[in-house]
Amino acid sequence: MKILVVEDEPKLAAFIKTGLEAQACAVEVAHDGTRGRQLAQRHPYDVIVLDVNLPGLNGFAVTQALRQEGNATPILMLTALGSVDDKLTGFEAGADDYLVKPFEFRELMARLRALHKRGGEKSEAVPVLRAADLELNLGNKTASRGGRRIELTARECSLLEYLMRNRNRVVSRVEIAEKVWDIHFDTGTNTIDVYVNFLRKKVDKEFARKLIHTVIGTGYILKDA
Ligand code: CA
Repeated sequence: MKILVVEDEPKLAAFIKTGLEAQACAVEVAHDGTRGRQLAQRHPYDVIVLDVNLPGLNGFAVTQALRQEGNATPILMLTALGSVDDKLTGFEAGADDYLVKPFEFRELMARLRALHKRGGEKSEAVPVLRAADLELNLGNKTASRGGRRIELTARECSLLEYLMRNRNRVVSRVEIAEKVWDIHFDTGTNTIDVYVNFLRKKVDKEFARKLIHTVIGTGYILKDA
């Protein structure tokens, strides 16, 4: 098993790492949430062990960010706080299991094995990107908003995927041209604006809350925050 451990208490992190390595697991440790999120974005892990109270991003925020990006790696949350509220917050953010500190190592190991097994079974699950009530299923290339299905062409789907992966960040026409069309457009072309308008008609037109916005002189932003 390849495991990412995100834990800011050095002693506990070392204890978990040593124990897992003795069980033939490959372990990487991050000591804050921001680093943990980066590692999880860059490398495929079988399971992530994630502390809740962390410097930088806390465990809930890390979980939520990874899930929104379509990362489905099973997450086991660790916390000193055992309240029902924390458990619910963790599960709502997208965690798969929960372990309260202090715990016995064999308990941790049993939970990780169970998560790994479950993760393997659902590893063919298709990634779904979410922004507000908009969902994009990258498997069958369909979107839905507020439960209503939206049919997209292949190009519209790629454009929406790009906007959703970069949500809450302004993306320029040049970036869109390079990343979605893989070519460099003449500055005079309005192809991108045309496609963004197609997409808006499908995604925003019938809804009070608009997600795709024009940033005059710069480009576009898909906003859900
Ligand atoms: Ca901590």
